[in-house]
Amino acid sequence: MAFALPELPYSLDALQPHISAETLGLHHGKHHAGYVKTLNDLVRGTAWETKTLEEIVRGAKEPPIHNAAAQAWNHAFYWRSMRATGKAEVPADVGKAMTSLGGAVAFQKAFTDAAVKHFGSGWAWLVVRDGKLAVESTHDAGCPIETGAVPLLTCDVWEHAYYVDYRNRRADYVAAWWNLVDWDGVRERMRAHKLL
Ligand code: MN
Repeated sequence: MAFALPELPYSLDALQPHISAETLGLHHGKHHAGYVKTLNDLVRGTAWETKTLEEIVRGAKEPPIHNAAAQAWNHAFYWRSMRATGKAEVPADVGKAMTSLGGAVAFQKAFTDAAVKHFGSGWAWLVVRDGKLAVESTHDAGCPIETGAVPLLTCDVWEHAYYVDYRNRRADYVAAWWNLVDWDGVRERMRAHKLL
């Protein structure tokens, strides 16, 4: 059974003005779709063909297979980290549950730094690691589930995520991206891990 490109949970213009329909169309329809196609091409006829995406992300040591699987997973999670009616501000109950990170303001600064200062392509994450909240970044296709963490929120900082709209200004993209965060999803995932 081949892996499928998940549909976007909103229309292509839903994230404007923060992320344009052109960026979203390319990012989902070309980049994400490309990772899914590559993955399907690479696993066909191998033992990975019958595994789940998560099993491949965690288990595949061959870089091309790992990278395609992890990018397929990361993008699906990135789409679900955002929504059209997101809010830049951390909701009070979510912020209150972030005391181990120093509170909502310290969390947003740490996450922004992880995204803006990350060198090269990668991802910024809020995760549950060892039962506690943590802000992390991963390089290239890196995914926190490989190292036993549970992702709660991610921001894609590959240039393809922002270059059409923001050119080289990654900081402007990250500042705009905060307006799109789906805090209901973050809250739900925190509750599932008894962190809220
Ligand atoms: Mn991307």
